[in-house]
Amino acid sequence: MRRSIALHDVVLYLRGQLNTRLSQVLNAGTRAPRVVPPPLGEVIRGGRTPLALSRLLEGRSNPDREAAVASYLDARGIPFALHPFASSEGAGQNFSVDLGSGSRVLLLVAHHDAVPGSPGANDNAAAVGILLNLLERLATAPPSKVRLRFLFTAAEERGYLGARHYARGANLAELAGVLSLELCGIGDSVAIWDVSDETPFLGQVRRALDGIGLRSDESYHVVGRIPMFGSDHRAFAPAGVPAYGFTLVPSAQAEALRQFVFSPVRSALRHLIRRPVPFDTYHTARDSGSTLEPAALATALRALEAVIAEVA
Ligand SMILES: [Zn+2]
Repeated sequence: MRRSIALHDVVLYLRGQLNTRLSQVLNAGTRAPRVVPPPLGEVIRGGRTPLALSRLLEGRSNPDREAAVASYLDARGIPFALHPFASSEGAGQNFSVDLGSGSRVLLLVAHHDAVPGSPGANDNAAAVGILLNLLERLATAPPSKVRLRFLFTAAEERGYLGARHYARGANLAELAGVLSLELCGIGDSVAIWDVSDETPFLGQVRRALDGIGLRSDESYHVVGRIPMFGSDHRAFAPAGVPAYGFTLVPSAQAEALRQFVFSPVRSALRHLIRRPVPFDTYHTARDSGSTLEPAALATALRALEAVIAEVA
């Protein structure tokens, strides 16, 4: 068991290294206009929509993105816990905010880092904006039967490093389920992915999405294990926690996306070939806020609210 966990870590480390180095090289010569982020204070005092809040991070360096999350929570008077980590693989800071009461925990995750050379708007500033909006919405009437934990992780792009550190120190037995928000700013249908089998939590997610009028295989998709992509939920899944990716995709691209993500060769060559939306900007200098769709963010928010109501 120990050995297989160590091997799992090595694989994720190598994958993180490849992610970072490849993006550095490929984004170095890009001609996309550089995103100049607005002053942080302006964003903190500004709007509360997920799109407005995504500007806390978009176009900033990873240390600045990390600091921006803490500054925002501080400024809004939202109590949060710090989870710093440092290892030979890298260092960073996760932040968590708990809402509600109950013995079970629903964990919603969004990473705050980006790959080098990318403004990181859809990956993953949009998701952070969604969770920050959601937590303020729910703060006035927190759930009483389940605790919600909002986790903002560092170094996802380095093989889920922040999430792996968090998972190592967490009480995983109390987790009812984990959703990791990734690429939530473009598209009109919800994808729940990396599903390997039916679980009670998956049943709740399906009921929630059905309940708000989304239709299976049309406006939401439950998808199996995706070979070349991943997100922070993979730090929890090996321990047997029901943990899935949560992403928005354009339904018009459903077939092209399916072919793309389920073909390991195409996915591996993703930097070189023409890719379907939203992978056309993924990990590139073109992943700017101008590509984000307010309707996609609103759909993600509505879906998450429904899941919370179903679990609570
Ligand atoms: Zn990401």
